Amino acid sequence: MKLIKLTQHVFIYPYDKQTDYPNIGIIKTDNETFLVDAGISKRHVESIKKAMNLENIKTPSKGCVTHFHYDHSYGMFYWKIPFYVCKNTQKELERISKYKYTLESLNQMIKDEVETPFTAYYIYQEYKDNLSNIKIKTDNFIYNTKDDKFTLSIGNDDKVDIVLINKNTSPHSKDSTWVYVKEDKVIFVGDSCYGDVYNKLKDYSKEDLQDFFTSLLSIDFDYVVFGHQEIGTKQDVIAYYHEHKSRFN
Ligand SMILES: [Zn+2]
Repeated sequence: MKLIKLTQHVFIYPYDKQTDYPNIGIIKTDNETFLVDAGISKRHVESIKKAMNLENIKTPSKGCVTHFHYDHSYGMFYWKIPFYVCKNTQKELERISKYKYTLESLNQMIKDEVETPFTAYYIYQEYKDNLSNIKIKTDNFIYNTKDDKFTLSIGNDDKVDIVLINKNTSPHSKDSTWVYVKEDKVIFVGDSCYGDVYNKLKDYSKEDLQDFFTSLLSIDFDYVVFGHQEIGTKQDVIAYYHEHKSRFN
């Protein structure tokens, strides 16, 4: 799989429906690279690194995850770099790190509603050779101890500001981080645009959906990167909002 060059600094390692791999963001500057979401496994991480090599992009020096779900977080261990996470993501990573990662514990995770039969299937597909290769990274930097927003700058002559925004209103997962790349006007919303996977695909409440659009549309972006679908534009979001407005007004 090849990288998609979205803007001057933003590249995407694209999502894959067959393996449930999400879109992975790579923010490249003159001297530093930042990673948005870690992927699911060593195999996934290696294929992202290979695609980066083809574009002469340096290995990331740090990264963040948009939420704790396996397809975004299990790869963290294999990057061997520091990760920024919100408080709730850290809590969830600590919770899932308590499991032993055997076939029995995977079943237990389904019972405990930590995973669903759908996600457990993909985890098993990825790790069936050795489930104990699942290692949860819990030594992370929590960015929202004081504020819901945190800005970090990467690059030297070619500086890019990356704003991490904590959003906990999505029914998909109560630990969302949006990642805004200011100079390139790109926003990553992870899976926060989707419904609750543990509760029969329960959708957003009217209030939370309104909040999702109000928050998103208040940001000055050209492109929005969702977890598991094609990249959208601001015009796409506005059109969707007007089309579905009756659902939450
Ligand atoms: Zn998710």
